[in-house]
Amino acid sequence: MGENKVALITGASRGIGRACAMELAKAGYDVAISYAGNEEAANKTINELKSLNINAKAYKFDVANKDACTQAVEEVLKDFGKIDVLVNNAGITRDGLFMRMSSDNWEAVINTNLNSAFYMTNPVIRTMIKQRSGCIVNMSSISGIMGNPGQANYSTAKAGLIGFTKSLAKELGSRNIRVNAIAPGFIQTDMTKDLDTEKITEHIPLKRLGQPEDIAKTVKFLAEDATYITGQVIGVDGGLVI
Ligand code: NAP
Repeated sequence: MGENKVALITGASRGIGRACAMELAKAGYDVAISYAGNEEAANKTINELKSLNINAKAYKFDVANKDACTQAVEEVLKDFGKIDVLVNNAGITRDGLFMRMSSDNWEAVINTNLNSAFYMTNPVIRTMIKQRSGCIVNMSSISGIMGNPGQANYSTAKAGLIGFTKSLAKELGSRNIRVNAIAPGFIQTDMTKDLDTEKITEHIPLKRLGQPEDIAKTVKFLAEDATYITGQVIGVDGGLVI
């Protein structure tokens, strides 16, 4: 087992997950990242991580597949020896008005954004309980707090993550495992690239979209400094939800 702490971040080939991986690597963590299929982005991220002189490896699997998640966690434990921080970040949107929402689009979003957290966290907490320490961060959204027309599936999944976070925090606190959620506002990534940002920015008190690094710094804070914080939902949204 190496001396560094180990972070496992899902959906870290691009966007917010990638920024979290870089931030934790800069803090001295070894980093395991997951991705769905974008080999090029995953390789680029891994190369940048390795340039920081830490151990880094990418795992390609579908977080909506329970067996794949269990197997991936086993592989990470074999490769890195332990997991100190789990960031359940991978997510997708399949937006559309509820009247016309297909079962496929409902299920894809619930499975990828919510059930994935169960599939990943279940095997990871077994090892965290044994080591009597751990930090779990679930990537929720302001949509899970406020709701959003056209995002019934996504808002449901993200609200579910908040309930999951609070229940797990109560169950696992006595084992020195902290569980928190982050509720990002509008962050500049591939997920938001087609939105009308000018109109959105009008409603944001800080008058700008967030950057992936804004979220990554919060993840690092939760992992490293927030030793008495558990069960919380941290809004990182430029003041959009006040
Ligand atoms: P993104 O840029 O679209 O990146 C998505 C990441 O998730 C990629 O690494 C992708 O891998 C991975 N992924 C997608 N489906 C997956 C699957 N089935 N299995 C494994 N990995 C999968 O998204 P983002 O904007 O960074 O969002 C990250 C998280 O923050 C999501 O949970 C999202 O809901 C949440 N969030 C984002 C915003 C925002 O404004 N951007 C706001 C609130 C919350 P590939 O590269 O291989 O496709």
